[in-house]
Amino acid sequence: MNNLIKVISWPFLLLAFSMVLGCPGAGESTDENSDVANVRRNIILQYVRQGRLTPVMREKLLTLTTQQALTDYAQQQDAAYLESLPIDGNLAMDVLNNVVGIGPRFSGSEGMLQQQKMLEAIFEEHGGVVEYQRFKAKNPISQQGVEVVDMANMIVRWFPERKQRIVLCAHYDTRPFPDNDPDPQKRRGIFVGANDGGSGVAVLCALAAKMSKCKSGYGIDMVLFDGEELVYNSARDPFFLGSTHFAQQYVIDKPEYKYVAGILLDMVADANLQIYQEVNSRRLAPKVVQQVWATAKRLGISEFRASARHEVRDDHLPLNQIAGIPTIDIIDFDYPSPQIRQTYWHTTEDTADKCSAISMAHVGWVVWEWMNNQK
Ligand SMILES: [Zn+2]
Repeated sequence: MNNLIKVISWPFLLLAFSMVLGCPGAGESTDENSDVANVRRNIILQYVRQGRLTPVMREKLLTLTTQQALTDYAQQQDAAYLESLPIDGNLAMDVLNNVVGIGPRFSGSEGMLQQQKMLEAIFEEHGGVVEYQRFKAKNPISQQGVEVVDMANMIVRWFPERKQRIVLCAHYDTRPFPDNDPDPQKRRGIFVGANDGGSGVAVLCALAAKMSKCKSGYGIDMVLFDGEELVYNSARDPFFLGSTHFAQQYVIDKPEYKYVAGILLDMVADANLQIYQEVNSRRLAPKVVQQVWATAKRLGISEFRASARHEVRDDHLPLNQIAGIPTIDIIDFDYPSPQIRQTYWHTTEDTADKCSAISMAHVGWVVWEWMNNQK
């Protein structure tokens, strides 16, 4: 995704957190290592953000006085919490680690081919019907005379006989280079796209594992777009090649089914997750926005914030504007956090250690519930 147009407002999360927390350090012995206090504070902040801090947990954390004891406790709690969730965050994290392990997966690369094989096996294992929508795009940079790039959207169909369908999508190509890296020396380095490129794919795989229990009355198509950002120069190269092709084909070569709604997942694995309503989604698909955020509220998934913040140009635009499918973008563009100006977006820092199984399980759960309630 690209072209951050505006930031709506800076939230007052820190203030809110400090109000919820009180002052965790108050009353503790003064010789306590400040590192220990920091570790404890970060765990508590994380649990507050994830809406799962109980008084018992808070009390327990205040009794633990070494970093090791605190991190052990947090790991145990996280593991137990993940077990309790209906979407398998560990599975999502495994997929994310595996695609990142391939390395760069930009359009036309060897990494993309490897990724396709890996994902095809996962989706088919769970009963999805995989097909490719192939097309060619002009290579923005001519490399060794290669003027054309072979592109492929991966389409995974569930309940293929149903004529009314929902589209769940993400891009699965990675940006060719980390060209937003703060260090100019690294801007032609390796970009592995853990959150931007890996996370949407990973959540869709976790949803695929649940599809035999899906109660939606609609057919579901999971679509992985190629060429979201085969971009070497943002001012010159076109974005959204795969989603644009998909939307155009839907109009030109009219299928016998109809998409009633869509959800795009992009940058949804941030360990410090906060998902504001994206401005274009509110304008183009307000009903879906309202339904999804109402679902999150009902489930108590507090990372979904019911206000607007960023206006993002992303793969949902061709789906809305060309195909007429009301599609929203679920995206956490503040990576890692609205309180930190520095971003990992399109940098060498977009790596798996910045991502969280719980974040992906939470997003997957909201999408799962929303989808099951569409009858
Ligand atoms: Zn990107």
